[in-house]
Amino acid sequence: MVDVVVVGAGAAGVGAGQVLAARGVSHVILEASGRIGGRAYTDRASLPGHWDQGGQWFHCADVNPLVPVAAALGWDFEQEPNTAPSLHHLGGRWLTAAEGTAADAALEAGFAAVYAAAAAGREVTVAAVQPDHGPSAAFVRHVFQLMISGDPEGTSALGYGDYEDSDVNLVVTGGMGALIERLAEGLPIRTGKAVVAIAERKGGVRVDLADGGVIDAKAAIVTVSTNVLISGAIRFDAAGSVRDVLDLMQDVPCGAYEKVAFAVDRLPFDQTDAPFLSVQPDGAGRLQSFQVLTGAKPKLIAHVGGSVARDWAALGREARVSEAEAFLVAAFGADVRRRLVGAATTDWQGNPWVRGAYSYAVAGRGGSRRAMWAAGAEGAVRFAGEAFSPRWHSTVHGAWASGREVAEQVALGLR
Ligand SMILES: Cc1cc2nc3c(=O)[nH]c(=O)nc-3n(C[C@H](O)[C@H](O)[C@H](O)COP(=O)(O)OP(=O)(O)OC[C@H]3O[C@@H](n4cnc5c(N)ncnc54)[C@H](O)[C@@H]3O)c2cc1C
Repeated sequence: MVDVVVVGAGAAGVGAGQVLAARGVSHVILEASGRIGGRAYTDRASLPGHWDQGGQWFHCADVNPLVPVAAALGWDFEQEPNTAPSLHHLGGRWLTAAEGTAADAALEAGFAAVYAAAAAGREVTVAAVQPDHGPSAAFVRHVFQLMISGDPEGTSALGYGDYEDSDVNLVVTGGMGALIERLAEGLPIRTGKAVVAIAERKGGVRVDLADGGVIDAKAAIVTVSTNVLISGAIRFDAAGSVRDVLDLMQDVPCGAYEKVAFAVDRLPFDQTDAPFLSVQPDGAGRLQSFQVLTGAKPKLIAHVGGSVARDWAALGREARVSEAEAFLVAAFGADVRRRLVGAATTDWQGNPWVRGAYSYAVAGRGGSRRAMWAAGAEGAVRFAGEAFSPRWHSTVHGAWASGREVAEQVALGLR
């Protein structure tokens, strides 16, 4: 018997565990997979050096509560946002600096329109409020797909507006997943322990594990992704408030976001401080962006979101790599292949313990996240994680802060 069972050892579960440990509350953190970090995962094996398969930016870095924690540990992360211009290759040519600035301005206008609609309480889709972005339309759509992990036409602008963006983003060069692992040191985490059922009972909860184990506790904090919960992988026998949370969650599923990472012996362009490179071979069809990682082991990392990432999931690894490679060839010619010394891909949608990327409010349901958050605010079964962050959904720091906040409330309730 422990006081609290935490389900999942991602950022939220680790944040919850840190608070419970500090408050002297007995607890155990059950993690289905074989590693700590969940969607914060620093891959040290597939390519020279390391790269983050999931979260890797400190978003909202000027107010992000993980930043001072990382700084105190001496963790490596960018100290200033990289404001160098990105590179754009469109329709067979490099855009001029002025054209690149216009693309960035279109993006800003796109986000401003979404926040204006949300501030006005309008329940409209992200796509519906977009101005005409002219030649930058594909670029703006691509970035929205990354930010939402869904498509603009299927996403509520009202729901998106819950995210309080301060627009300061820093790459965690030391590895975001590695940072969460570091924060987890000393916590009572048991990996390879999948929870299959949680039942409220007199005085607390009973938690059933896939291996037949049973743990009784006074409370449970569930931090798994909304897609895992929507899939029914964990059965609940609990009060109406838990059912309300699960019903509302149908409106806040995880979308899709995948990466293809190329290790390069050197970058195939001179402006190596560019944070991103975008390529649209025919000037009208699909556009692909690559994050530029410099340093001793440079990398170009293709990011895809929304329906594009869903389509990529249906392809095998080799086909995903060749698709991404084709965009590099379109920009730099076939010789660029000689620069590529390794390739690796993510598969968040195929990961049974994640089943997608991060949560977004579907069209017409912009209020569901807040309603879900409020519905789950009491009882012996509590929910935390990125989807339950009122200010910073879809992020590592939002997940971590949400785990900490719920753990504080649970610890207080136990006293
Ligand atoms: C490709 C991609 C890029 C991203 N980029 C960024 C970024 O740059 N910056 C940023 O801040 N955020 C980013 N994010 C989002 C961020 O990674 C997540 O919001 C955050 O890591 C989620 O943390 P969590 O603790 O809520 O959930 P998770 O990390 O999913 O943790 C839940 C844990 O529960 C475990 N679990 C699942 N089912 C069970 C079960 N039945 N029993 C026990 N354990 C179970 C899982 O294995 C997992 O470890 C990105 C995400 C993706 C996918």
